[in-house]
Amino acid sequence: MEAEWMEALPLLRQRMGERNFATWIEPVRCARDAEGWRLEVPSRFFQEWLSRHFLNTIREALGAGTVSAPSVRVVVHAHDSVAQPVPPASSAAPVRPAPAPPRHVAARAPKIGHLVAEYTFESFVVGEANAVACHAARTVAETPGQRFNPFFLWGGVGLGKTHLINALAHELLGRPPRRRVAALAAETFMNTLISALRHDQMGAFRDRFRDLDVLILDDVQFLAGKERTQEEFFHTFNALHSAGRQVVLTSDKPPHEIKELEQRLRSRFEGGLIADIHPPTPEMRVAILCKKAARHGVELSADVARLVAERSGTTVRELEGALTRLSAMAAMRGVPLDLELAAQVMPPLARSRKMVSVEQVQELVCQHFRLSVEELSSHRRVRPLVFPRQVAMYLSRTMADASFLSIGEKFGGRDHSTVMYAVRMVEEKRAQDPSTGSLLRSLETQLRQESGAHAG
Ligand code: ADP
Ligand code: MG
Repeated sequence: MEAEWMEALPLLRQRMGERNFATWIEPVRCARDAEGWRLEVPSRFFQEWLSRHFLNTIREALGAGTVSAPSVRVVVHAHDSVAQPVPPASSAAPVRPAPAPPRHVAARAPKIGHLVAEYTFESFVVGEANAVACHAARTVAETPGQRFNPFFLWGGVGLGKTHLINALAHELLGRPPRRRVAALAAETFMNTLISALRHDQMGAFRDRFRDLDVLILDDVQFLAGKERTQEEFFHTFNALHSAGRQVVLTSDKPPHEIKELEQRLRSRFEGGLIADIHPPTPEMRVAILCKKAARHGVELSADVARLVAERSGTTVRELEGALTRLSAMAAMRGVPLDLELAAQVMPPLARSRKMVSVEQVQELVCQHFRLSVEELSSHRRVRPLVFPRQVAMYLSRTMADASFLSIGEKFGGRDHSTVMYAVRMVEEKRAQDPSTGSLLRSLETQLRQESGAHAG
C-alpha cells in the first residue's frame, strides 16, 4: 500500500465519520501508476457509490498540501468480488450473471443522450405503486406516437422514472423498425441549446431535435423559469407532435405544480397521458432488493431482504444504498451476508413506519369529523363522508404505510384503484389548499404522538 494513502487515512476517517470510513474505505486497495491514483474496490455497486459520494473527499485528502487535485480512478477489482458462500446445489434459485448490455443500442442507434444499459423492463420490479406507469411505458414502446402522446411520467426522487424511460428507449431501439430516439435530461437539452446559440448553429440544433421519431426528456421540472429554453422546446415539441412523433417527459411533480412553466407548455404536457409512480409498497421493496442483489451477484435470503426493506428508507435509491453497504461489510469482514450481519449494520429505524395502524388512523379521523367507523367505511357517497374517507385513506397510506390493497379491504372492501384515487385527490388538495394542509399536519402530529414516535 502506498505510504501517501496510509497518510491520508486519518484525514478521511475524520471527514467521513467512523461508519462510512469502515464501510467505504477499509475495503479499498490503493495503488499508484502513471495515470495517478488507482482505487480498487470489490464490486461495481461499490464503485458507483464510492465515486458518487466520496470521490471528492478522497481527492482532497490525497491532495492535501499539494497545489493541484490528484487524479483518482475507482476500478473494480476483478478477483475480489463480494464474498459469496457457494449455496448448496438444492437451495435458493441460482444467481444469474447480469445480462450483457444490449450492444445493438450503441451500434445501430443514432443516439442523442446516454442510456443506462441496466435500466430495462426486465430489471424493473412492477407492483401497485408503478403498475400504471409501467404499463403506459410499455404501450408507448410498442406504439410510439399513437396512443399516449405525450406521455408524462412523474413521481418523487429515486422512484424509477429514469429507469422506466431508459427501459422504454431500449425497447424501442431493440427491434425494428429502426427508429431515431433521443433520451436526455432537460438540462442537457438546455446546455445543447445554449451552445448552439453561442456558435450560431441553431439550424443544426433544430434539425437534430426535430428529425426524431421519439424524444424523451428527463426531469422537465428543470425547465422552470428557463424562458428561452422553454420557448425552443415548445417549438420542438410542436414540430414532433404534429408530425405524429412520440414525446416522453418526466418530472418530479405533475405539470400543474411546475411553477414558472409557460401555460402553453403546461397544456401541451397535459394533453396526453399523465402517469405517476408512488413509493414502493413493503412487498415491492423486498422484491426490488432481491432483484438488485441477484443482478449484482449478491446472495440475499428472504429474511435478510425483509429486514433491509423494513429498516431502510422508502425510496428505491435508499434500498440500493443499504444493499451496497451490507455487501461491502460482508466483503470486508469475509462473512456471509446473513441476518446477523444485517441486523448489526442496519439498526431499527428510530421512527418505525409500522407504528401507526390503519385502525388508529380511522379512529382519529372519525373522532375529528365526528363520524363512526362504520360510516367512514360505508359505501355511501355523500359529501360529509367522502372527504373524511379520502383523508383516512391518505393517512393510512402515508402514516401507516399500508398497501392500497389492504387499505381497500379495511375500508369496506374497496378496490385498490379507488384508494389510489383517494390518495391522489388528497395529495392534490394538500398542494393547493392551505386549510387541507394544516388539517393534515395536525392529524399527522396526533398520530405520531399516539404511536409514541417522535414528530419530524
Ligand atoms: P428517478 O429518476 O425517479 O429519480 P431512478 O430511475 O434513477 O429514479 O431510480 C433510482 C434507482 O432505483 C435506480 O437504480 C433504479 O434502477 C432503481 N429502481 C427504481 N424503481 C425500481 C423498480 N421498480 N425496480 C427496480 N429498480 C428500481
Ligand atoms: Mg431521474
